[in-house]
Amino acid sequence: PRTMGPVPSPSGPKGTLGDAMPVFNFSPGPAALPAEVMAQARDEFVDWHGSGMSVMEISHRGKAFMRVAAEAEADLRDLLGVPANYKVLFMQGGASAQFAIVPLNLSGSDSTVDYIDTGHWSRRAILEARRYCTVNIAADAGGNYTTVPPQSALRLEHRAAYVHYTPNETIGGVEFGYVPDTGRVPLVADMSSNILSRPLDVSKFGLIYAGAQKNIAPAGLVVVIVREDLLGWARPATPAVFDYKRVAADGSMLNTPPTFAWYMAGLVFKWLKKQGGLAAMGERNRRKAETLYAAIDASDLYRNPVARDARSTMNVTFTLRDPNLDAAFLEQAEAAGLKNLKGHRAVGGMRASLYNSMPLAGVEALVEFMHEFQRKHPRG
Ligand code: PMP
Repeated sequence: PRTMGPVPSPSGPKGTLGDAMPVFNFSPGPAALPAEVMAQARDEFVDWHGSGMSVMEISHRGKAFMRVAAEAEADLRDLLGVPANYKVLFMQGGASAQFAIVPLNLSGSDSTVDYIDTGHWSRRAILEARRYCTVNIAADAGGNYTTVPPQSALRLEHRAAYVHYTPNETIGGVEFGYVPDTGRVPLVADMSSNILSRPLDVSKFGLIYAGAQKNIAPAGLVVVIVREDLLGWARPATPAVFDYKRVAADGSMLNTPPTFAWYMAGLVFKWLKKQGGLAAMGERNRRKAETLYAAIDASDLYRNPVARDARSTMNVTFTLRDPNLDAAFLEQAEAAGLKNLKGHRAVGGMRASLYNSMPLAGVEALVEFMHEFQRKHPRG
């Protein structure tokens, strides 16, 4: 085993500062990872499986890492029930790179592509796609981004190369309650902030991508699940590392992948299986979100602007009756161990991100704090 001199012992289990106060991290991303996973990664950090090396210090092409990589993929396939005719890719460049990689791979320069616009991240995807092809806005949410268009409102181009949408808008806290039916046109989804949050029928999608830093792993990795018939159509000028077919053919090892993030993803997938898989996570996540929305709805101090059928289970946004109280709310929440609740600057107010790693106890602590804050700030 490797010797590194004394390693300072951690001050306590993750989620505690000193002996007393638990910390709940509501960050939208990079987000908290499960405490058990962080503890395991800590234990293996310097000396991985008795090798005297860290998993981040070994070749991605060696037997040991190849096993880590293959197991992570197998566990992800298991969790999501990924059909055999789909490839799973482990790429880099974040979800933002996929905004360009998707049109580069799935459309010709004279193609039309459909985009559903439900918020900030939809917009970013649209702006990038416009650099490569003609974008038809199949539906938009009418400017203030607090709703999701129903299936009947989608104006789909039947000749579109694909339909792109954002099932969960991380900033607005707006989530689709249904999967759009796009007929024979492949459906592409940016699932960065809700992948693995509940069961999913992958066969409804042509392609799914997700930046890892919310529900999967540390930043640096983006997971792509793509149907095989969509491989091999990349434009000639597509960088090799962004050509899905080439990446798939090389097992996502066309170049050096983000090995540490991939390893962490594998630990998270194993943790999810231990929790009972996505059915169990879906149930837990539904309960967490319901608990918080119920507290918001029952008060006249807090307000959530999103239409009920479009409320996100992962990112719960809320504003205070008087925005002048925002600073005090955040400061006191922080002091109570409730971290990173500030809303995105585009929306203001607060946002509590309730990814898989957030226990119900964290939501209960937040609700308790909100009640307390309200008692100190009665109307009038
Ligand atoms: N799409 C969604 C839904 C996101 O939440 C984010 C990041 N918050 C992105 C895309 C951009 O991801 P990245 O920073 O990994 O490019």
